Amino acid sequence: MTVWDDLVGQERVSEVLTAAARDADALVTAAAADQPPPESSKMTHAWLFTGPPGAGRNQTARAFAAALQCVSPDRALGGAPGCGFCDGCHTVLIGTHADITTVAAVGAEILVKDMRDTVRKSYTSPATGRWQIILVEDAERLNEKSANAVLKAVEEPAPRTVWLLCAPSLEDVLPTIRSRCRHLNLSTPSVAAVADMLVRREGVEPQVAEAAARATQGHVDRARRLATDPAARARRAAVLKLPLRLDEVGACLKAAQELVDAAAEDAKQLAEEMDGKETEELKAALGAVQGGRLPRGTAGVIKDLEDMQKRRRTRTQRDSLDVALTDLTGFYRDVLALQLGSRVAIANADAEDALERLARAGSAEATLRRIEAIASCRDALDRNVAPLLAVEAMTMALRAG
Ligand SMILES: [Zn+2]
Repeated sequence: MTVWDDLVGQERVSEVLTAAARDADALVTAAAADQPPPESSKMTHAWLFTGPPGAGRNQTARAFAAALQCVSPDRALGGAPGCGFCDGCHTVLIGTHADITTVAAVGAEILVKDMRDTVRKSYTSPATGRWQIILVEDAERLNEKSANAVLKAVEEPAPRTVWLLCAPSLEDVLPTIRSRCRHLNLSTPSVAAVADMLVRREGVEPQVAEAAARATQGHVDRARRLATDPAARARRAAVLKLPLRLDEVGACLKAAQELVDAAAEDAKQLAEEMDGKETEELKAALGAVQGGRLPRGTAGVIKDLEDMQKRRRTRTQRDSLDVALTDLTGFYRDVLALQLGSRVAIANADAEDALERLARAGSAEATLRRIEAIASCRDALDRNVAPLLAVEAMTMALRAG
């Protein structure tokens, strides 16, 4: 087992990264022995990972980070860094390595105040590890100010600092930032590769694995959820029943309410799991005395945490709605495939009756309009339109007939 084993269908990318990690290792070794750095090196200070949602951008960046911090003695014997077992690899993979900072958007944007400490840290030497690594999971969510802070840091990196940026596509990142990064694009993993991973790594029955991989079309995390979590399967089944229910206005409004409620419930669950605990931990760290009284001047810190939690709650609700919209899009894409006479590409074989009924009931043009209505709903949510309004407009547009 190595750090690359969790990547699905990204053999080419992991070859490139293994070569870079080898050269990075040579750089560290030369520096430790006071020797000049090797002349040519595939290692560089800034990397940009792009690829469709679910292809594993963040996991790939994290695997690379682990390989860079790998301290396995096998490396000296010609083994590739990234053993997966040594202290370096292990602590990176479980997220406790001191020289890796992960930045993930809690809300719609990464604010400059979220980046300030990270940028400062990027100018320092690694504390215990071999590299100081900054992993930005949602670089597309950097706003103008935070992107500029990152740009400055990427332009003048400390000698042992590596920036790993992840975004859906090149266009999502400021041209000035991406021109300084080495770019790697992940491809959508095939259904077979995802199913194989589910069987091998999660012990899922081959048939269930195949169905989950097909239904999620190369989205590895969603496939894993679907294959292993009965609640996720029930939710998806409910979403796929919606299209047939949408006949009258009342039914459309009710369906919209259900979709929004389910997403809000997800956000509430996550908040219940995390918010209270985080607040207690922060209060303890600030030195709150028994009875909850806080020292003077710490109210602002608590307020910052509460703001973050609120942003996270909105984001979770959005992400959860997004899963439903993705399922619906997949459903209508299947309807379209049937209308155009192509049975090969059907992703939702388990909803075949509903697909065929809708395919017979309307035209391909009408189906295309419905797919567009789902995309418009997603755009509206991106623009912070109230979720219920956006989803109601969509269910009304999906109405049969
Ligand atoms: Zn290792």
